[in-house]
Amino acid sequence: MKMFIATTFALFASSAFAQSPDTILVNGKIITVDAQSSTREAMAIRDGRIVALGSSAQMRKLAGPQSRVVDVQGRTVIPGLIDSHLHAIRAAQTFATEVNWIGAASLTDALSRLTEASHTMKPGAWLIVAGGWNVQQFKENRRPTQAELVAAAPNNPVYIQLGYGWAMLTPLAIKALNVTTAPDGSISGGQGTIIALFDKLPKPTFDQQVDGTKKFFRELNRLGITGVYDPGGNNLLPEDYQALFKVWRQGDMTVRVAYTLCGNVTGGEFEEIRNLVALMPQGFGDDMLRFGGLGERITAAMNNNNRPTDAEKAKYYEIVKWAAGRGMTLTMHWNNDASVGQLLDIFERVNTETPIGGLRWSIAHLNDASEASLRRMKALGIGWTVQDAMYFGGDGYVQQAGAAAARRVPPVETGKKIGVAIGGGTDAHRVASYNPFTSLQWFLDGKTVGGKAIRGPEETPGRLDALRFYTLGSAWFSFDEKKRGSLEVGKYADLAVLSKDYMAVPVDDVHTLESVLTMVGGKVVYASGPFAKLEQ
Ligand SMILES: [Zn+2]
Repeated sequence: MKMFIATTFALFASSAFAQSPDTILVNGKIITVDAQSSTREAMAIRDGRIVALGSSAQMRKLAGPQSRVVDVQGRTVIPGLIDSHLHAIRAAQTFATEVNWIGAASLTDALSRLTEASHTMKPGAWLIVAGGWNVQQFKENRRPTQAELVAAAPNNPVYIQLGYGWAMLTPLAIKALNVTTAPDGSISGGQGTIIALFDKLPKPTFDQQVDGTKKFFRELNRLGITGVYDPGGNNLLPEDYQALFKVWRQGDMTVRVAYTLCGNVTGGEFEEIRNLVALMPQGFGDDMLRFGGLGERITAAMNNNNRPTDAEKAKYYEIVKWAAGRGMTLTMHWNNDASVGQLLDIFERVNTETPIGGLRWSIAHLNDASEASLRRMKALGIGWTVQDAMYFGGDGYVQQAGAAAARRVPPVETGKKIGVAIGGGTDAHRVASYNPFTSLQWFLDGKTVGGKAIRGPEETPGRLDALRFYTLGSAWFSFDEKKRGSLEVGKYADLAVLSKDYMAVPVDDVHTLESVLTMVGGKVVYASGPFAKLEQ
């Protein structure tokens, strides 16, 4: 290891660059996530990229008169986190105009957030909680009643959504939407019902969407996130990408986004997709915003359908074969192993005609993946994006599938052994919190939000592996693992200086971590506490 440091340092000193670094971080515990899993003390950054790593003394020697030297005072530094399955575009669009129950420990706290919003938003504004919470996170262990919502915000229409199965509306909201609810003010149903209901809600104005996008990215930066792979999703149409595009045009992106397109026109998806991507080749964009292919839904007929008909599969095959021919990436939502063969059969058939091995296709979710399915994925070069769905859903899963089955959900250690590319993430913000440290803690302890450990040690990764999934692992899905995801010479200086040591805090505390200094391409995008003055 000593030799390696010396070599890197010598290369820098001799060849390259007469110019001195813009920024030097010293006195850190830099978890590089390089191939040797090495830890370094200091780092030099120039023009957005890492130019050297080594000891603080070595890096200080590189400093010129213009170099900014940041003493991180022994703190842990990690590569910027990358969520490989975050519905960021959708979450961002409404972030400035929705109320957030993510992380609220009690219903009292959640209701007070409504009251607070009723004071800060315009009088009579809609108060919308669009998911991201569940009952077990509240110490009361129950949903709000309509009367409680009215008491919290008597003069606002209030809409509360729980996952994709239930929503509660106050009388003002029911009247405004002109919908029929159960006597208690709730609406229950399948995904389709709740998606259609959500579509009736007023949309934020374009300016509010742009504002929301910037605020959401900053919120992600606060949590150490510097990149996302966005899988499109429900309630997301082409016009919904425009706020993101404006933020990109303004040069205000603080999270690197790879975005995908879903088929939205039921039955007409092929034509729709062909039209949308006619002038948009795979990979089009730049390192802040890049077109990442199709997903997570290709056709409505194959979405959440465990028994697609031959005709539905033929239609799907036609689209993905076309995508393979164009060299496109795609990510596909699939929930259970029992039926994933329906999908893998199609992918295997396409692969015999047009090899997909280099295209970085992926399957999202598949929490109960069998070893056999993971081997089929590996053989096809298909990656697996893994989310902390069991954090909210684990108790239900135990009831449905039994404690023994839950011990291996999701089987990331098996996937790692087989060599499947694995990315970490959340699936936020409707069905999960976007907090990466909640997800990382769940990787490490397998506990549901109610505190019940359901996963066994045989499928529980170590801290470094979990971090690797969430950084370098996630970077793979947008072909970025040579540019970011680890802290190595030549890569982007995308990093987070953490409030506590991720490697050393008790596992129970991992979810309390946040960043105190986040950089994207060497630029400070979030800073707090002792580093606040670094943010211009
Ligand atoms: Zn999904």
